[in-house]
Amino acid sequence: MAEKHLKIELATPDSKQSIEPALSCSAPGVLGRFQILPNHTAFISELAVGEIKIVLPEKTRYFATSGGFLEVVDNKVLLLLETAEPAENIDVARANQAKERASERLHSKNASLDMLRAEAALARALNRLKVAERASP
Ligand code: ATP
Repeated sequence: MAEKHLKIELATPDSKQSIEPALSCSAPGVLGRFQILPNHTAFISELAVGEIKIVLPEKTRYFATSGGFLEVVDNKVLLLLETAEPAENIDVARANQAKERASERLHSKNASLDMLRAEAALARALNRLKVAERASP
């Protein structure tokens, strides 16, 4: 029988939570953003730095993630994430500092610096700043 909802299990190295009943879940796949609706076929994807959007009947929740994996089977969506910050919990000052640090590193001529690491830190900081704008005032 067709289901109308999804059950989301969101886990990070230091937290675990269930979010339900969800109407949809959108995530930043490494090959592009995608959306899971009820009755989706079994599916697995690696996730990139980006925004997780979970639509519930009464509200929509947004999380910033640094990446991980999403699996969906039988209307259960498992999100295994390196980090997941709800939009309303993002420390904007901290993200701005991380952005400045990473930008300075990328603009420095110091060849011994790990540029890939600085680029990744900048992407995480910019993503946090973007997702923080979703927080309701
Ligand atoms: P920073 O340099 O500020 O530590 P980072 O990108 O290196 O940023 P991570 O290693 O991705 O940080 O995350 C470490 C922990 O801190 C994780 O639990 C993550 O959720 C949390 N975290 C990082 N930045 C923020 C932020 N701006 N607001 C809220 N939590 C954050």
